[in-house]
Amino acid sequence: MSVEKPEILLGHYLKQLKLPSMLREYGKLAEVCRDEGADYRTYLLRLLEREVLDRETRAAERRTKAARFPVVKTLDCFDFAAQPSINQVLVRELMTGEYIARRENVLLVGNSGTGKTHLLTALAFAACQQGHRVRFVTATGLATLLLERREEKQLERFLRQLERMHLLAIDELGYVPFSRAGAELLFEVVSRAYERTSLIVTSNLPFEQWTEVLGSERLTGALLDRLTHRVHILEANGESYRLRDSRRRMRRPDRAKPSTD
Ligand code: ADP
Ligand code: MG
Repeated sequence: MSVEKPEILLGHYLKQLKLPSMLREYGKLAEVCRDEGADYRTYLLRLLEREVLDRETRAAERRTKAARFPVVKTLDCFDFAAQPSINQVLVRELMTGEYIARRENVLLVGNSGTGKTHLLTALAFAACQQGHRVRFVTATGLATLLLERREEKQLERFLRQLERMHLLAIDELGYVPFSRAGAELLFEVVSRAYERTSLIVTSNLPFEQWTEVLGSERLTGALLDRLTHRVHILEANGESYRLRDSRRRMRRPDRAKPSTD
């Protein structure tokens, strides 16, 4: 048998079985294992590990893309000291994703610039890494999508797509009031998610004021009832991080002085 033959066949089979990482790595790893005196089983194990790890990474990347985050933010770059009102212990517990398995919701309430979107994104991104199907939307974006899909007679299909999610992250409820139809469709999403899909909702408004954006008091009551049945509440009452950040920059001497060059 020629030397090339097994290589060609091996390449062919690995492609046929869709094992690209093994195809890429088997030669290099064979040399490493030979040099280390590792046995065949160890070689096979290491090779399979590469494939499994790469596959998990690719799947997490696909889930992250499908979630449609505007920007990915993680907890590493969140400064808890800058926002002491946030319950750090609870945030870290939520990062494990166990609330998703228990179909529990999370509500992040606080002023503008206190890190709600940052935390929402960090939690939702972690969920993608943990193997969950996630979708990020803004509240008004979701209402617009729902109204559009209804117009196109695709509403039921869209609602079923949302139902397949493990986590639906709804950002910025409270800045823009909904139309009556928009509020009703949003209620439909929350209703269908009840005990099926976890929701994380951020809002600048305390519960008492949700009627202002949702319109009907009855609908707001029913929506809050479902949303808060099993809920973790995170409150951020501090100063805006954006404001603080820009103030700090203004104070920096290199910025305060006009440039001479
Ligand atoms: P909100 O959604 O509450 O209005 P954001 O999450 O959009 O606030 O935060 C505004 C900006 O400030 C973002 O760029 C965010 O990453 C940053 N930010 C807010 N709080 C913190 C924090 N505690 N540590 C680091 N960055 C923060
Ligand atoms: Mg925000």
